[in-house]
Amino acid sequence: MKTLKFGGTSLANAKKFIHVSSIIIDKAKNDQISIVLSAPATITNYLEKSIKKFIKHKKIPTSILIFIKKFFLNLIQELYNINPKYPLKKIEKQIIEKYEKLNNIFKKIYLSKICSEKKQAQIISSGEIFSVIIMKSLLNTFKRTVTIINPVKTILATNSYLNATVEIPKSKKSFQKLNISKQNIILMPGFIAGNAKGELVVLGRNGSDYSAAILAICTQSTACEIWTDVNGIYTGDPNIISQARWISEITYQEALELAYFGASVIHPSTIAPLQNTNIPCIIKNTNNHNHAGTLISKQKKTNASIITGITNLKKITLIKIFSCTNFCIEKMTHKLFLYLNRLNINTYLFNQSLSNHSINFYIQERNSKNIKKDLETVFETEIQRKMIEPIITLDNLSMISIIGTNIKKYNSEILKKICCVVNKFQNTILDISHNASNTSLSFVLKNKQTDQITNKIHNLIINKKIFINIFLIGVGGVGLEFLKIFFQQREQFKKKSICLNINLIANSKKFIFNKKKIDSEEWIQKLEEPQENFDLKKILILPKKYGFLCPVLIDCTASYDIADKYNEIIKSGFHIITSNKKSNTSLFAKYKKIRETACKYNKKFFYETHVGAGLPVIQTLKSLIESGDKLVKFQGILSGSMSYIFGQLDPNNTLSDAVNSAKKLGFTEPNPQDDLSGIDVARKLLILAREAGYSLELSDIHVEQILPDDFKKTNNKTKFLSRLRALNHIFLKKSKQAKKEEKVLRFIGTINDQGICKVQLHAVNKYNPLYHIKNGENIFVFYTKYYQPIPLILRGYGAGNRVTALGVFSDLLRIIS
Ligand code: ASP
Repeated sequence: MKTLKFGGTSLANAKKFIHVSSIIIDKAKNDQISIVLSAPATITNYLEKSIKKFIKHKKIPTSILIFIKKFFLNLIQELYNINPKYPLKKIEKQIIEKYEKLNNIFKKIYLSKICSEKKQAQIISSGEIFSVIIMKSLLNTFKRTVTIINPVKTILATNSYLNATVEIPKSKKSFQKLNISKQNIILMPGFIAGNAKGELVVLGRNGSDYSAAILAICTQSTACEIWTDVNGIYTGDPNIISQARWISEITYQEALELAYFGASVIHPSTIAPLQNTNIPCIIKNTNNHNHAGTLISKQKKTNASIITGITNLKKITLIKIFSCTNFCIEKMTHKLFLYLNRLNINTYLFNQSLSNHSINFYIQERNSKNIKKDLETVFETEIQRKMIEPIITLDNLSMISIIGTNIKKYNSEILKKICCVVNKFQNTILDISHNASNTSLSFVLKNKQTDQITNKIHNLIINKKIFINIFLIGVGGVGLEFLKIFFQQREQFKKKSICLNINLIANSKKFIFNKKKIDSEEWIQKLEEPQENFDLKKILILPKKYGFLCPVLIDCTASYDIADKYNEIIKSGFHIITSNKKSNTSLFAKYKKIRETACKYNKKFFYETHVGAGLPVIQTLKSLIESGDKLVKFQGILSGSMSYIFGQLDPNNTLSDAVNSAKKLGFTEPNPQDDLSGIDVARKLLILAREAGYSLELSDIHVEQILPDDFKKTNNKTKFLSRLRALNHIFLKKSKQAKKEEKVLRFIGTINDQGICKVQLHAVNKYNPLYHIKNGENIFVFYTKYYQPIPLILRGYGAGNRVTALGVFSDLLRIIS
């Protein structure tokens, strides 16, 4: 025997009824089956609405009742259209009879002016009765014999009319007396039971799942299948969590916790009876009936992950009760629970403190409307006698729960992530607690952006996803190349659960922003269209506004203004990656301050491309120093253009020719005089010296000018080259002299053991590693406490947009790692 329950969405219209009947017939081929049906979707809501309307206006809600009658009459008409064997007239009569009955209940309560809970139960459960009438006749058309169970007589329950609790042993006994033929399909309306007086009671909203569990026990079913409109249980509500994953199996305990803390797939009362009788429960999708669904059982077969899911309950209320020292807190708790049980109110994070004589707990806001007044009535005498202080309530809170197995073991990892997310959303954790069975961790916060917070935590803890949100400023040569690499490589990171998203692209005038991500195709065009003016202040508030966990600002500009704002940028939550050398070459005090801010705010500040473009120069030097090494001497060719120019220079090749071809190949700055001035090399040398621990300013770098003092700067390229030609003979002489000594001329930067930094033209012999460097290559020769007499050498292309962009990208990877 198997028990199958079909929910409202599975019975929403005639086609769905037919589909469900085919599933039933199919299942009944191999086994006897018992079926529990809900009311078609939304019908119970309308019935509930009709009651509320009546209570409010004291008038029979005729329009709703007629709507319900029409709904069912249309449904059977449609069934008949599809299946001409359907006994339309007979069922029409039955529906009208039931409708009259419903109408009569309203007439009676209209006369008495009292809408008792007993009557409310009769009204609200009508939908299920209609479903059973329709399904029975439909199954009969397929020649299947059906036994209908009247739950008022068979499923016995106590407590309230609207939220009854089933007495399982009694129900089992009464079921056994029915003696149903093994050939018959058993059909029962869900949601309904009967009390000791033989009156109809209901099992609380969505109670048909609970009915199914009870029927499964009564029929000694081998499984209880809950058929709904999703493939089973998910790691989070797919309406909130875009990356929610289907769960193939979970334990009863986990399902219980998920349901208790707000997951809506299954009614919380359903699990416990199945757990006690060890009947597996399967959540199945009516619209995708071949899908395996989620198996809920005692133990998982596979080694599924420890965190099963995340739920949230928005709108919860904190209740605080303080007693005076002379009132026994246990008595207070006892009285409180009697009240809560009577009203079937679930409490969360119940906390009884003996030391400060208080009780704290949370309830859902829908239960808290009158609770303050009610509790003050419950504790009226105690309050009057000043044994209890007036009750305090605090609304508009929310609770997020993480469900799993042995969750405490992973506390530090989970809590770190939770705090990080909550902080990012500028919310505060007000309370936090585990349940006794160590299967859930719940925390309370202000009900503000609760879904977004839940989504982020889900991605971090369950999907273990890392999100990096990139703000790129500067789309000149380097920025553009960076974007090419980025869009090429991004997919590869997805496989590793790293989501690299560009959310902002800016040039010096405007910016475009997309809270999800900017696509590779769209940005160029968008940046050409009118957009918001570039405004760093506006940009810096975006990560907090959208809860970005790991925002990274990449500065590919050459702007002093942006470099000057790095402290503010870091304080706004960004890591910084920069190819803009201005930040590291301004005053030493500023250089120091950025590092202090980054350290204080726990942010990364990476600038590997400042020296040697993509070559790992800074990182290497930093690691040496951090490992206790010390720079003794440094020598290097730090400029691609100067490497090329002096690599070309020999007694047969003049300076002006070398500069000209370097310019043609794109090695030089637009005005080659900027390269020849040595300022670029001086900046790089300063950065290296500072990395090595010297507190220097740019003015401390001695630059030996290779052009005479009276060589005036001009922006006119032809004029410049003709002037340069006038200097050819000087360099020819130097070059000849070098050759005579078996040396070559190299434009080099040096740092000596006293931290003296020089940029100069120097003749080096063939034993010097710099001798062979030409064609734009860079070289960095570090003599250190550990690396000598043989130095540590790095060489390779040290300039160009592509390698620089690659360096920026590898800085980004270091942020992820
Ligand atoms: N029809 C009832 C409700 O919507 C019971 C159920 O479907 O489970 O609450």
